[in-house]
Amino acid sequence: MSFRGRFAPSPTGRIHLGNARSALLGWLQARAAGGQFLMRIEDLDRARCKPQFLDDLYQDLEWLGLDWDETPLVQSQRNDVYREALEELERLGRVYPCFCTRAEIARAASAPHGLSDEGPRYPGTCAALSPEAVAERARTRVPALRFQAAPGEWCFEDGVHGRTCQDVATLVGDFVVRRNDGVASYQLAVVVDDAASHITDVLRGDDLLTSTPRQLQIYGALGLTPPRFWHVPLVLGEDGKRLAKREGAFAVAELRERGIAVERVLGLLAAWSGLGDGTPVTIQELVRRFRPELLPRAPVVAREALLKEALGLEG
Ligand code: GLU
Repeated sequence: MSFRGRFAPSPTGRIHLGNARSALLGWLQARAAGGQFLMRIEDLDRARCKPQFLDDLYQDLEWLGLDWDETPLVQSQRNDVYREALEELERLGRVYPCFCTRAEIARAASAPHGLSDEGPRYPGTCAALSPEAVAERARTRVPALRFQAAPGEWCFEDGVHGRTCQDVATLVGDFVVRRNDGVASYQLAVVVDDAASHITDVLRGDDLLTSTPRQLQIYGALGLTPPRFWHVPLVLGEDGKRLAKREGAFAVAELRERGIAVERVLGLLAAWSGLGDGTPVTIQELVRRFRPELLPRAPVVAREALLKEALGLEG
């Protein structure tokens, strides 16, 4: 199948240069391969996503020179699709209802730390509830649905990190695929959507590297073919912390509004991507330069001096 990449942002804030770099790299990879590039809006977290951020996002990406094929999928409109996948997992006996509250899980967890995005490892409290117990508990609490993690090491070949393995059952335990508000979890939705869009290559920040083994287990259970993964190391501030959406100085919209030339911003993003030295560059030139082998293998530090020089900021 010909190359199909994607960018799947969550409109929870104005995108910063780190997000823009992920979008740009995914786009460059697709265009350099003569392939397609899709957008998907990951807005399942309704409380944090705002229409204003989505408008800004589209404007920012267009300003950078990115374009995309096909109408973007919007996750908040795809409940039926996720429900079908969840029903399939139920038929396969791979999920079970979980009535635990966060506090109960924290109390019952033997290992204090699992993965930060899931909280402590799920100790399996609801894994073996009898049908009677399920019926009884369902009278007072709507359950989440958990996927039974398959045992053993789950490995895959990452385009940037190489062979990557994780024992999902030991580290994470059974994980949520439908939240108790009835909404699909990120882990489920991302798999269903990437498969539905026939995505061949997922390029994203390596903060999601540890999610991939869970996603691979869902691909396996649903009989879907997983894409190739390219997890790029994040851009960090000089303090060693990752750039956050709240750091206004790095928001693309802000640079755009200040009238900074887009070629300067692209020059900076190129320097953070192994594709340039920080001098201004056009997006067409970056398509010519792009090689996956050039992607940095280690986190990139957004040095203040380079940032100011590349963007032409004073002092
Ligand atoms: N929506 C996720 C985020 O903004 C990215 C999901 C993905 O690329 O798989 O962090």
